[in-house]
Amino acid sequence: MIVLKFGGTSVGSVAAIETLKNIVADTLRHHNNAVVVVSAMSGITDLLINSGKAAENGDKAFETNLLQLRLRHEEVINMLLHKQAAAAHDFLNEQLQLLHDLLNGVLLLKEMSARTLDCIASFGEVISSKIVTLYMQEHFSSVAHVDARQLIRTDKNFTAARVDFAVTDMLLRQAISPQTHLYVMGGFVAATAEGVTTTLGRGGSDYTAAIVAAALDADLLEIWTDVNGVLTADPRKVKKALTLPQMTYEEAAEMSHFGAKVIYPPTIQPAMRKNIPIRIANTFNATHAGTLITRRSHDTAPVKCISSISNVALVNIQGTGMIGVSGVAARIFKTMALQEVNIILITQASSEHSITFAINPQDAAKAQQALQEEFDYELKNNLLNEINIEQDMCVVALIGFNMRRSIGVSGKMFGALGKNGVNIRAIAQGSSEMNISVVVDKAEERKALNTLHDAFFLSDITALNLFLVGGTGLIGSTLIRQIQQHAAFLKEKQQFEIKLVGVANSRTQYINEEGVDLNEYQGVLEQKGEKHDLAAFIHEMIALNLPNSIFIDSTASPEVIAFYDDILKESISLITPNKLANSGKWQDYENLHAIARKFGVQFLYETNVGAGLPVISTLKGLLNSGDEVLKIEAVLSGSMSFVFNNFKDEIKFSDIVKEAQVRGYTEPDPREDLSGADVARKVLILAREMGLPLEIGDIVIENILPQSCIAAPHVEAFFRALENNENHFEQLKQQAQQNNKVLRFIAEIDPQGARIALRGVAADSPFYALSGSDNMIVFTTARYKERPLVVKGPGAGAEVTAAGVLAEIVSVGNYLS
Ligand code: ADP
Ligand code: ASP
Ligand code: MG
Repeated sequence: MIVLKFGGTSVGSVAAIETLKNIVADTLRHHNNAVVVVSAMSGITDLLINSGKAAENGDKAFETNLLQLRLRHEEVINMLLHKQAAAAHDFLNEQLQLLHDLLNGVLLLKEMSARTLDCIASFGEVISSKIVTLYMQEHFSSVAHVDARQLIRTDKNFTAARVDFAVTDMLLRQAISPQTHLYVMGGFVAATAEGVTTTLGRGGSDYTAAIVAAALDADLLEIWTDVNGVLTADPRKVKKALTLPQMTYEEAAEMSHFGAKVIYPPTIQPAMRKNIPIRIANTFNATHAGTLITRRSHDTAPVKCISSISNVALVNIQGTGMIGVSGVAARIFKTMALQEVNIILITQASSEHSITFAINPQDAAKAQQALQEEFDYELKNNLLNEINIEQDMCVVALIGFNMRRSIGVSGKMFGALGKNGVNIRAIAQGSSEMNISVVVDKAEERKALNTLHDAFFLSDITALNLFLVGGTGLIGSTLIRQIQQHAAFLKEKQQFEIKLVGVANSRTQYINEEGVDLNEYQGVLEQKGEKHDLAAFIHEMIALNLPNSIFIDSTASPEVIAFYDDILKESISLITPNKLANSGKWQDYENLHAIARKFGVQFLYETNVGAGLPVISTLKGLLNSGDEVLKIEAVLSGSMSFVFNNFKDEIKFSDIVKEAQVRGYTEPDPREDLSGADVARKVLILAREMGLPLEIGDIVIENILPQSCIAAPHVEAFFRALENNENHFEQLKQQAQQNNKVLRFIAEIDPQGARIALRGVAADSPFYALSGSDNMIVFTTARYKERPLVVKGPGAGAEVTAAGVLAEIVSVGNYLS
């Protein structure tokens, strides 16, 4: 004997019911007897309940619902039934007439009791089971219909009736005979001893099937639905959810209690009592093995799945009057029980100063009032603070039998949530240690679920969600190319998958949660992008609330940095080659860094100084390991490096500057480089990193240009002035040469301050041998005193800058995973 239950979608269309028939045919090849329990066609129970509510409110809109209901069923009859079609039409008409009369009654009375509601809601299963029976009779011999209302006996607790197992088991055993191969019955519906229709609660067809299986000592209970078994998380909320091949009854019960709709919670009990295996299978992918639920599981993973209850209210009772006073908790929970308020989760602080518990939001007002009455004395005498109820919360739970033997699960859970900025409002661990639950804001539900899912099930591959502004600029597009080139390596060796979720340039912007194809992102931006509106872009990024989000500012614009604090406050990691944020006002710099620290979020800007060279990370490393930085000397401008490294022999200074300009090493107006303004920003960033609270004006820059060069009205005039002043530079060079020195434009930072000057350096200086357009940063520290630590290499260019950004993406990935 086998019991098969087909859910709403599995009987929801002509094609589904045909598939159902094939599954039953296959089953009957292996089993002599089967009972098929069916739900109402998908959406019908909702339609019925809404019709009842409409009628109760005096709204005749239920007429259109009835028409819809008729059409859905007639389509099935017309398409699938032949010999039995007339019988099916008659039955449908008769039921619809009854239903119509009932709804008219409700309309006239403007009153619908729970009892009436159950009667109305029962029509879905009553009709679907009859049609399926007639259809089966056309294809199989020995098929009988049984009316669940005559076999499943319950109390009068309408809408969630409790089963009288002694009577039900007996009735089922009497009604189901081994001579008949196939029985079909409706799920969800039942009746009292007086024959009044009841229902077992929404989703109750699963329960009916389990009750039947237990009564008949079935070998197997199969629940056919629309997903590949029980998944590691709700697939509507976690796209990457995976099928669980096996789980225990306890785990299945726990997860269904915690919101996994795939099984109605009471279903597990009857099957477990009789040790009947439950298989959850997919009607629409019938060859998939699905999930087998049994007493034991061979799977030793500590966490089996993640579940959530989307909407709860959090009741918080606190006050000094609770400390050491016994019976407060008992009074609270007795009060709740009297009001029939179901408590989903409880936590109590060990100080006994507060008790927090989660309830259904509909019960909040009732709960608050009852608690206020119960604790009237304590509230009036300030022994308790006011009773506070927070709405719009949700519970997210990790579930797994093996958690009790594992250490570190909760640490990993809280760590993953914390790094993604999900604030935990309350924590509870069931005494069975089979679940750890946290209460978080409802708005964080998806993010929390996906974060945890990645952490516990996909720890091998972490998806990093990128939002890139300046996406089509030189650095932005180079970065995308590098990500493409290294994607396979990153996935295999670093276990990261980088997804470009949002991209913007100064004209357009585009966001797609699924990720944008890196080969086509420029075209997509052109064609599908919306008009540039940075605030909207950032707002949408925040609203998406994806885990492991990283924002990259590869612009040089002040527009973007105005949003940095908003981004960091949302715990979105920020990587920026844009120097403006860190070289603005000290107070702004301090604020940004404080926000990043407070929210535990990564704010990385290695490429602000020396492009991809490890300058800031080296400095941080020295400071974090307790070294004392005595002095930093540096050539931080590629153009200035090129100019002075090549200013030797017979070459004229103006020619070198010209060449640097032609090669694109300088700004279009080389005075911006020669004035030291660009270097000053980098110096400021390094100084601040060392802890010096400097402003840009505090950087002392030695002017190397004669007045006429500075005053020249345009670039051409500047070059003429430079040629006229050739002697000035020649003299400087010769002076240096006489002392066996070369000229270098060097920044120097020490605890006294920062200055940039043209200096002559001798052969013993690391700067002496500097060549090309390389940058060089020399750290003199307590540890590196005699022989300083030197970082040297190309300090400009899109390739090295983008590579620096990519390295930081990987570093954020390592931090997050
Ligand atoms: P049926 O009508 O077949 O009873 P339900 O809609 O009641 O189907 O339950 C199946 C649905 O449960 C799936 O479509 C899925 O969206 C949802 N669901 C929620 N959590 C899970 C989970 N952990 N595993 C599988 N499905 C889940
Ligand atoms: N048809 C009922 C409902 O929608 C029962 C079920 O489908 O399990 O709740
Ligand atoms: Mg269901």
